[in-house]
Amino acid sequence: MPQANPTLNPTRPAPAVRRSAAATGLALLALAALLPRPLPADDGTEAFQRCLAGLVAPAARAGIDADFFRSTTAGLAPDPGVLELLDAQPEFTTPLWDYLAGLVDEQRVADGRVALREHAGLLRRIEARFGVDPATVVAVWGVESDFGRITGKRPLLRSLATLSCAGRRQPFFRGELFAFLRLLQSGDLVDPGLTGSWAGAFGQTQFMPSTYQRIAVDFDGDGRRDLVDSVDDALASTANYLRQAGWRTGQPWGIEVRLPASLDLARAGRRNKAPVSTWQARGVRRLDGRELVGPGFEAGVQAAVIAPTGRDGPAFLVLRNYDAIYSYNAAESYALAIALLAERLRGAGPLPVTPWPTDDPGLSRAERRELQTLLLARGHDIGEADGLIGTLTRRAIVEEQRRLGLEPADGRAGRRVLAALRGTPAP
Ligand code: CA
Repeated sequence: MPQANPTLNPTRPAPAVRRSAAATGLALLALAALLPRPLPADDGTEAFQRCLAGLVAPAARAGIDADFFRSTTAGLAPDPGVLELLDAQPEFTTPLWDYLAGLVDEQRVADGRVALREHAGLLRRIEARFGVDPATVVAVWGVESDFGRITGKRPLLRSLATLSCAGRRQPFFRGELFAFLRLLQSGDLVDPGLTGSWAGAFGQTQFMPSTYQRIAVDFDGDGRRDLVDSVDDALASTANYLRQAGWRTGQPWGIEVRLPASLDLARAGRRNKAPVSTWQARGVRRLDGRELVGPGFEAGVQAAVIAPTGRDGPAFLVLRNYDAIYSYNAAESYALAIALLAERLRGAGPLPVTPWPTDDPGLSRAERRELQTLLLARGHDIGEADGLIGTLTRRAIVEEQRRLGLEPADGRAGRRVLAALRGTPAP
């Protein structure tokens, strides 16, 4: 989902949403407190309706017909759940290797290769028009929505209206609510009951409404920009996003490299650009030891070195196209997932070649489902074995780690706890 907006794409962890010092979990109560005499049983609905009525005029200034606004938002009730999610502090942290193991697993590589074949003609036309190669476009599609399969389940209108009237980012979400209404008003979108992530990202590309408004293209020529049901529109819009973000046709995103012990890691980081020749002079080499400068990596091309887990883990030389990918979601982990998945789709074997600095690697989605099945067999009430590692699964893992004497008992879904559970019968 582009542009650092909060998201809840269940295929990947939400990027950190900045948390204000003030506790806002009670936002709806605070809303109710604005009422002259709140009824004891009031859940904030009345204040919510008042807030929506107050948005008619600003919406009109944003080009939304007042009658359309009223009829589309009539009968909406606030959703307190999205306010909790807005302020949720992650109870557990996800190491980079876990994040990548789930996003760039064999299943997604296989599905991506099928997508490349199935949509080969479309992807060629997209490349001709926007200059972005098929593997990159398909990699974004796979990471954003698992190729259109997972697009979010919360009604967008209700979420955006709630976040526009309560919580700590109301001006931002009002802009998104108005953008969503404009998409409905213009006929690009036809279903006001559309669902998406709790924060408003939706469709196959998981664009926020304002990004959709700005970037989406009608590539199948039916007169509507439909990133929900049209693969043509969705993939072309992804390419258009990358092009607008400064994509350079024909350039690689980067390569995995080997750093010399002498390299000061203070020189690393996506923003610390220097010509490829400078990195070569500093001793950075390709994994096979060859010189850095070569086709795609000409001496004068600006590049940065990233070492996301420090000196002991994989390192990469990244170029301008990595920044374009990064801008889609403003997270290093996300950009790496896209870049590595795209390489796999171009035929590369498992990546990165250099192991992550851990003796307890991450799990693919198939392994996560297996782990959940083992937890269910031990009586943990974690719901469906869907491969999504949520709070319930992590709490169950903590219990099993303690029972098995595994340290640390941190709730992490890694290879070690999976192996231990495979090897011990359910009680
Ligand atoms: Ca269309």
